[in-house]
Amino acid sequence: MIREDQEHLLVFPIPMKGECWYSLLARYHAISGNRSEKYTFDQLFGGKTVLDAAVTLPARVKLIDAWLPRECGLTSDRIIREFTAYQYLRLSSRFPDTAYQRLMQGSAKRGRGMRSQMAGALRGRHQKLCFCPDCVRSDTEEYHHSCWHLVHQINGVRYCPIHGMRLIESPWPEGEKLVHFYPAPDAEMAGQMERESRGEETDVFQDRFFELAKTIDWLLANSERIGTEERLLQFYESELGTDPSWQDILKHLASKDAGFVLELFPEEDLVRMGNDVIKHGLRQQSPLFHALMIMRFGGVQWLERKTQT
Ligand SMILES: [Zn+2]
Repeated sequence: MIREDQEHLLVFPIPMKGECWYSLLARYHAISGNRSEKYTFDQLFGGKTVLDAAVTLPARVKLIDAWLPRECGLTSDRIIREFTAYQYLRLSSRFPDTAYQRLMQGSAKRGRGMRSQMAGALRGRHQKLCFCPDCVRSDTEEYHHSCWHLVHQINGVRYCPIHGMRLIESPWPEGEKLVHFYPAPDAEMAGQMERESRGEETDVFQDRFFELAKTIDWLLANSERIGTEERLLQFYESELGTDPSWQDILKHLASKDAGFVLELFPEEDLVRMGNDVIKHGLRQQSPLFHALMIMRFGGVQWLERKTQT
């Protein structure tokens, strides 16, 4: 609920390119001068909220318009489009608009189950906030500070889609859940973490992961042009010649790209790459499966051609 006494904030950070919603909130907390996180939570959300969701999704979107300064040009609508992965998630028909509306407008408690499923589909095994050291350097040059980038937190993204650098896992959150505002590392800290993480084994799928990161990055910004999962399935059908079942699609994927698919889903048994994956992997993580299929057919260029016709 929007509190009667909720006033517009006097300051709010100017969003940076590719930034995620959580990062904007964390930067607000830092510049607000608020003595405690509790006060910031109370000011923004009228109490503690689920910050995990804000990394990839808009958390309690209705409140945003109540407290954003009118001059800053940000609205809940713009935040959803540009600073969350909601459009990308919508490529999965598993998360319909009605669920989203209920989740974002309702109380935190009511939407909790669906929210964690949505966040799980988007983040997968990303437990910690990740960053690209080159992005930290270029952000610092341009904006004099860094931020958490949305694409770096998405399931399947191991490399920066801009710089091709392997992402570095920050130590945060320290517990299992993200309940604090952690500022993105500055250039010095990022450099130190980069040196510490060096010497990791070489990645035979580096090129594939780079391609996947670029595909997901495109989808984050352009999924609206595709619209629905049904439309994507029609694109696949036009390539495969027949009306493919999910099983056909997955078999196709596994037969062409088995090693990489196994690297992404090590817990799945490719021999059973049928019903089980459809039930678990695909249904849980279908935006990622779509990104893989798009790569299979020629990547972003293929999709751009399809969406133009
Ligand atoms: Zn980068």
